[in-house]
Amino acid sequence: MEHTRQWLRRARRVAVLTGAGVSAESGVPTFRGKDGLWKQYRPEDLATSEAFFRDPKLVWQWYNWRRGLVAHAQPNPGHYALADLERRSKEFTLITQNVDDLHEQAGSRNVVKLHGDIWQVRCLACLREWTDTRPCIAELPPKCGCGGLLRPGVIWFGEELGPGVWDRAEKAARKADLLLVVGTSAVVYPAAGLVRLAKCAGAKVVEINLAETAITSQIDAFLCGPCGELLPKLIA
Ligand code: NAD
Repeated sequence: MEHTRQWLRRARRVAVLTGAGVSAESGVPTFRGKDGLWKQYRPEDLATSEAFFRDPKLVWQWYNWRRGLVAHAQPNPGHYALADLERRSKEFTLITQNVDDLHEQAGSRNVVKLHGDIWQVRCLACLREWTDTRPCIAELPPKCGCGGLLRPGVIWFGEELGPGVWDRAEKAARKADLLLVVGTSAVVYPAAGLVRLAKCAGAKVVEINLAETAITSQIDAFLCGPCGELLPKLIA
């Protein structure tokens, strides 16, 4: 913890990569924890375009469940600590794999949302995209005014990231003096590849997680515990 504090004090440019674990203490389940299961389905079997085209109503029912969870969630002390760190840093980028808006609600500003936003919807026919914050969409699957099928504005497994999104994340990771990796199992690519990019460009990399992950052997420090407790301690 003390080493990490020193690296933070010295760093001109800080980047943070967050995953579902950051929102777990707000009551939004991770994909790989047992609370992430909905009915008998594994998230990996629903968050794909194949699953959506096979049964759009089922995938939308799952999104309604997730929308309801996110709508009732509040940022936790980990989200607030990261917003505080941004205010105190010269250059700061928060790269998140999360599709909820809890970082923004906590006050984070320079946020790169790698995997999109659970409140966005996109028409597959006219490609129009807009925000719809209803926790539960009644008519499933929802349709656009043009008659086209709507899909959630998120990136599913096997899909490419949105235009420009990867460039911003990659630049921030390459330029960072310190990369904090928080609450991610670091198995989803290309997001997990940011760790190696930052390390090769000379950054110190610090991981905060409840358990060791796929990247723990490549990093400079591992802080083991809930990020809602460790982040406020680190940044205080
Ligand atoms: P993951 O489910 O694969 O892994 C979660 C990680 O968080 C695990 O390593 C776990 O040990 C750790 N963790 C759990 N609680 C923690 C806590 N309190 N403090 C610190 N660490 C904790 O999640 P992922 O790596 O983000 O990847 C899965 C995909 O899931 C992402 O693409 C993301 O889009 C999506 N997802 C997003 C949300 C969300 O928006 N809140 C929720 C679930 C899944």
